[in-house]
Amino acid sequence: MADLTRLTAAQTAEAIASGETSAVDVAQAHLDRIDAIDEKVHAFLHVDTEGALAAARAVDAKRAKGEELGPLAGVPLALKDIFTTEGVPTTVGSKILDGWIPPYDATLTRRLKEAGVVILGKTNMDEFAMGSSTENSAFGPTGNPWDLTRIPGGSGGGSSAALASFQAPLAIGTDTGGSIRQPAAVTGTVGVKPTYGAVSRYGMVAFSSSLDQGGPCARTVLDAALLHEAIAGHDPLDSTSVDAPVPAVVEAARNGDVRGLRVGVVKEFGGEGYQDGVMTRFHESVELLRELGAEIVEVSCPSFTYALAAYYLIAPSECSSNLARFDAMRYGLRVGDDGTHSAEEVTALTREAGFGAEVKRRIMLGTYALSSGYYDAYYGSAQKVRTLITRDFERAFGDVDVLVSPTTPTTAFPIGERADDPMAMYLADLCTIPSNLAGNAAMSLPCGLAPEDGLPVGLQIIAPALADDRLYRVGAAVESAFTARWGHPLLEEAPTL
Ligand code: GLN
Repeated sequence: MADLTRLTAAQTAEAIASGETSAVDVAQAHLDRIDAIDEKVHAFLHVDTEGALAAARAVDAKRAKGEELGPLAGVPLALKDIFTTEGVPTTVGSKILDGWIPPYDATLTRRLKEAGVVILGKTNMDEFAMGSSTENSAFGPTGNPWDLTRIPGGSGGGSSAALASFQAPLAIGTDTGGSIRQPAAVTGTVGVKPTYGAVSRYGMVAFSSSLDQGGPCARTVLDAALLHEAIAGHDPLDSTSVDAPVPAVVEAARNGDVRGLRVGVVKEFGGEGYQDGVMTRFHESVELLRELGAEIVEVSCPSFTYALAAYYLIAPSECSSNLARFDAMRYGLRVGDDGTHSAEEVTALTREAGFGAEVKRRIMLGTYALSSGYYDAYYGSAQKVRTLITRDFERAFGDVDVLVSPTTPTTAFPIGERADDPMAMYLADLCTIPSNLAGNAAMSLPCGLAPEDGLPVGLQIIAPALADDRLYRVGAAVESAFTARWGHPLLEEAPTL
């Protein structure tokens, strides 16, 4: 067979089910690819060669016995290192979990295994998912396969880079403020933040619990849908898990059709600070949607202007509470436990050594925002803004079926460019954050390359909560029309490494 690393997940599963190839051959081809190029890309923090081959062998054995295989059986996947994996290290990109081997699987990990998905390893990320470039990883940055001197997005840059460099056809990300969609946009891949609560957070290391959401990443809309269906669904182990049927996302991805659909263009996303090439590709996509039969309406969401400010109070506040559990007593790293320090001193020394600068910045910010006397002024106001943003969405979705915008204001920026300027870094999530605050569903998919730098641009589609299927319906229509007209940016133009 041709190069197995170039197939989509759907094609891979089909080739395995039909016996055209074996799951072991597919896993080995990807492990070889990782071996050959990941030194340059640094998408993986940990490659689980033995585990991957064992999972692949199990799929082949099942097939040999004539048992039915699921739609993703034998398909390799790169798992963000924020989900616990029994017996396999989980670091969250932090030194504080150094040496910790989880004794249990996250619900998402378990579901992947049950689906016969072959987990290749754990991917690099900004420490505790705080960042937009993967430069905050304690283990060094990841390169963008389109240009290794540029960022692959963050916090899930390892997952997006693994996809774009054909080290895996599927990956998992988590999106608290954009960490699935922004990496997808800057690497020319597809990433979906499902409705809040749609994918279990059990065993997913917490950053900001009211915003965190795991979701699928892939190179095509259909592949993302297949993965979405495998990981979503109610989980009694997560009290915020949605107890409702998973929307028919695969069916929607197979039936991309936007005729008669009302599409709202968010007025607030554009203008100053947006790269010209990003806006050019975005406007082209809107035109394409119109040609495909959608009705385009301009929509105003005035409170979105305050989304970034509200997010950077709410997320740090929740993180300051969530990260209190890393006290040197329970997990991983312990510094100063030599008989000369008190327990409190050991905690302080461990946190000093184990957390990076951005994590410390957020813990301090959050602790301050939650302190008595400031609570109402900061956290309280941010929560009110959150309500206003939710209302803006409700009003908009009263008029339209989906909203669209660029995913990010710019294409991938050079590694190091924003590392010392947290505000510039935070702006990367300008368009993605409102959906986390409101809890609705959103997708980023490639819509071409910016003419000035030849780098991928992402189109964001936003749907109401529990209407995740609309993302796939619109995404599939855009993807197929786009590919027919201009070619698929990643599948046809990605630079070879
Ligand atoms: N970049 C945002 C932040 O730093 C979002 C991160 C995320 O979605 N995990 O918080």
